[in-house]
Amino acid sequence: MTRSIVFLVFILLFYWGCSPKPYSATNKVYKKQAKEYAKLLAEYPVTDSLGLNYPADWVGTTNFSMRRPNFVIIHHTAQDSCAQTLKTFTLARTQVSSHYVICRDGTVHHMLNDLLRAHHAGVSKWGNSTDINSNSIGIEVDNNGSEPFSEAQINSLLAVLERIKKAYNIPTSNFIGHADIAPGRKVDPSRFFPWKQLADKGYGLWYDTINAQVPENFNSLQALRIVGYNIKDSIAAIQSFKIHFVPNDTLNVITDADKKILVDLVKKYQ
Ligand SMILES: [Zn+2]
Repeated sequence: MTRSIVFLVFILLFYWGCSPKPYSATNKVYKKQAKEYAKLLAEYPVTDSLGLNYPADWVGTTNFSMRRPNFVIIHHTAQDSCAQTLKTFTLARTQVSSHYVICRDGTVHHMLNDLLRAHHAGVSKWGNSTDINSNSIGIEVDNNGSEPFSEAQINSLLAVLERIKKAYNIPTSNFIGHADIAPGRKVDPSRFFPWKQLADKGYGLWYDTINAQVPENFNSLQALRIVGYNIKDSIAAIQSFKIHFVPNDTLNVITDADKKILVDLVKKYQ
């Protein structure tokens, strides 16, 4: 009897130990890929990225550090649960990822070292910057796009932002949304996202129109361009501007009130 109980416990422990934790296999993939990049960084002497052989002997500089992210791009997941997003970001075929995923209950999943490149921005442009995946940290906030963001979630987001702003000395103006860098293609984070609350804490810029004087020949599109928007598709640029700065207005038309906002934003962003 005792022996059979011991046997049963043994069997249970065996299965418990071997039961596939949902991400143990993909965590192994992460570890392997990170090791490959570590090998690349340790290469000595360095092979030229174009495969050219320079005649001079290798002389490595003694003064260097890791490249650092300089933008933070905020997204909403457009999915119904964090579990769904974690799954999406661990399936090779989706090709998408972000550094952080923040769940509705405030749980933060750090999915990728900040110094590595996540695939969250896609084809995008802000000012003259085009490879935004290379210079940014991507944060996905779990939200389906048509609901307010939870307080716990925003508190967790603010804590993450505080840490990464300090760690990489990211300028206040460089906290922006996916819709800002991909007008016409993306609308996240949605009109529910509390950009002003973030700006009040030093993440992103907000406007004050009290003293804004709109010049007679004011060019709204050029103002959007100075702020950073890609104005190739002017309606799309206006839509992205509205989602971020005038969320209650769903018409893609620049009003007199918007012009005042732009006059102030241009001063802050240029
Ligand atoms: Zn996005």
